[in-house]
Amino acid sequence: MGKILSSAHVHTTFCDGKTPAGEMASKAYEMGFVSLGFTSHAAQTFDPGYCIEPLREKDYIKEILDIKNEYKGRMAVYLGIERDLYSCSDPSDYEYFIASVHYFEKPDGTYVGIDADSLELQKYVNEYCGGDGLEMAKRYFSLVRDYVIETKPAIIGHFDLVRYNNTKLKLYDEDSAIYRNMALESLRAMAETNALLEVNTGGIGRGYMTSPYPAVFLLKEWKAWGGEVIVNSDCHNASLLDAGYKQAEEILLSLGYDHAVRLSSDPEKGMWERFCLK
Ligand SMILES: [Zn+2]
Ligand SMILES: [Zn+2]
Repeated sequence: MGKILSSAHVHTTFCDGKTPAGEMASKAYEMGFVSLGFTSHAAQTFDPGYCIEPLREKDYIKEILDIKNEYKGRMAVYLGIERDLYSCSDPSDYEYFIASVHYFEKPDGTYVGIDADSLELQKYVNEYCGGDGLEMAKRYFSLVRDYVIETKPAIIGHFDLVRYNNTKLKLYDEDSAIYRNMALESLRAMAETNALLEVNTGGIGRGYMTSPYPAVFLLKEWKAWGGEVIVNSDCHNASLLDAGYKQAEEILLSLGYDHAVRLSSDPEKGMWERFCLK
């Protein structure tokens, strides 16, 4: 068992997760987690199978608060959401939120998923980005930057999510200077918000990524700028609560990070705590 013992990014059957919230908490407790943050996909007016139904938002809040009470003094539980840029929910109803961009809005008001069907994304690139994958990536990083600067979330979710479909579509070279610079510029602009940069291992757990988001070159610069990181499993299934954590720890240690941040094990001392990675 590693040192992280927490995830501030988990999904349940309130959105597109496979495990009910109560079961997720009991598994985390059994694994020795010191804290757990629920972050269903916040309500939105489109793609309903993916997010909390707007009419169930109150039920979600109540259930997570009940679980928080149930585990009081044993494991610190927090009420959060993963809030997409195009969500209609109010983040102030939650203890914290993760800012994520999962869609592009098309001129006709419909949306295309960034980490969804690759053919749909390819169509978007062809029709709206002149077939230029780098233009799509630039648009994505600008959306994340503006969203984070405007809303000041606790956590920047899976910062380079565009990698998800690039592994299939090969829209641009992830090692090219032009791609790296656009990602770095966006990240640099967000550093002043003091948001935590998420090291997201969800893709490793689900078997479609071989490394966490974000890429190593981004984590390296983030550290040089004095940024803080949080490791999250973004799990949709309780069996993956700490999937990929060992790899994330190794990457962070190799870059010279000696600590990371997690949801506090003692809510009376604050919402977040640093812990030693060594
Ligand atoms: Zn997400
Ligand atoms: Zn998520």
